[in-house]
Amino acid sequence: MNYSFEPIGVIRSPYREKFGIPRQPSLVSAARVRLELLPPYDHPDCVRGLAEFSHVWISFVFHQTMDRGWQPLVRPPRLGGNAKVGVFASRSTHRPNPMGLSLVELVSVSVDYGVALELAGADLLDGTPVLDIKPYIPFVESRPDAAGGFVDGPPPLLRVEWSEAARRHLAEADAPAGFAQLVEQVLAQDPRPAYQDDPERIYGVSLYCYNVRFGIAGGVARVLEILPAA
Ligand code: SAM
Repeated sequence: MNYSFEPIGVIRSPYREKFGIPRQPSLVSAARVRLELLPPYDHPDCVRGLAEFSHVWISFVFHQTMDRGWQPLVRPPRLGGNAKVGVFASRSTHRPNPMGLSLVELVSVSVDYGVALELAGADLLDGTPVLDIKPYIPFVESRPDAAGGFVDGPPPLLRVEWSEAARRHLAEADAPAGFAQLVEQVLAQDPRPAYQDDPERIYGVSLYCYNVRFGIAGGVARVLEILPAA
C-alpha cells in the first residue's frame, strides 16, 4: 500500500543550509522559526485552542536529503562517526520514509494574515515542508525516567569568542534581534563533522542572509567574520 501526504505548512528558518543546524531541537533556543500554514489549512479554526499549549510536535519531510535513500545501519555523530546503529535506533535524516519529528516551543500563534506559528529552538531547514502539528501533552509524553540509549545527556559545548573584525561586522550588520546569541549557540554545538579537528580550517555557516566564518581550536570556537551570504 502506498500513501501520499501533502504539506500543511512550510518552515521559514534562519538555517539556510544543513551545515550548522543543531542535531536536535531545543539545543539552540535562540533559533526563531516561523511555520506558515498553507491553504486550505491556513484558517483560524485549524489552530483554535493551540495557543494554550507551550510546546508542539512538528512532523516534517527531510526534503533536502530524501533522494539519497537509506541504509539499515547509520553512524550517529554522538558515537563519534564510526560506530553503527540501526536506522530505527537513530534520528538519522536518511530513513525509508524520510520524515522528521521535532518537539519545539510554541511562542505565539498569529491569525492576522493567514495562520503562522512562531517556534523557538527548532532544528529545521528553511523551506522544510510540514506534514502535521500536534500539541505536546506533558503528563503523557514527559518521561524523565526514560533510558536515553547512546544519547544520554546533552553534548559538551564549545566556548565561543569573537574577533575584533567579527564584532565590527556585527555592529554594522542590520541583523535580526538575537542574531549574536544565535551565532554563539550554533557554534557552541560544534557543527563540524565527527572527528574533524583541524585548527587551521575556516568554516562558514549560513544564518539568515549572513555567512558566519569561524575556526575551532582547543575547545574554543572563534567567530572570524560576518559576511553577506553569496
Ligand atoms: N528532530 C528531528 C527528528 O528527530 O526527527 C530531526 C533530527 S535530524 C538528526 C536533525 C538534522 O536534520 C539537522 O541537524 C539538519 O541537518 C537536518 N534537517 C533539518 N531540516 C531538514 C530538511 N528539511 N531536509 C533535510 N535535512 C534536514
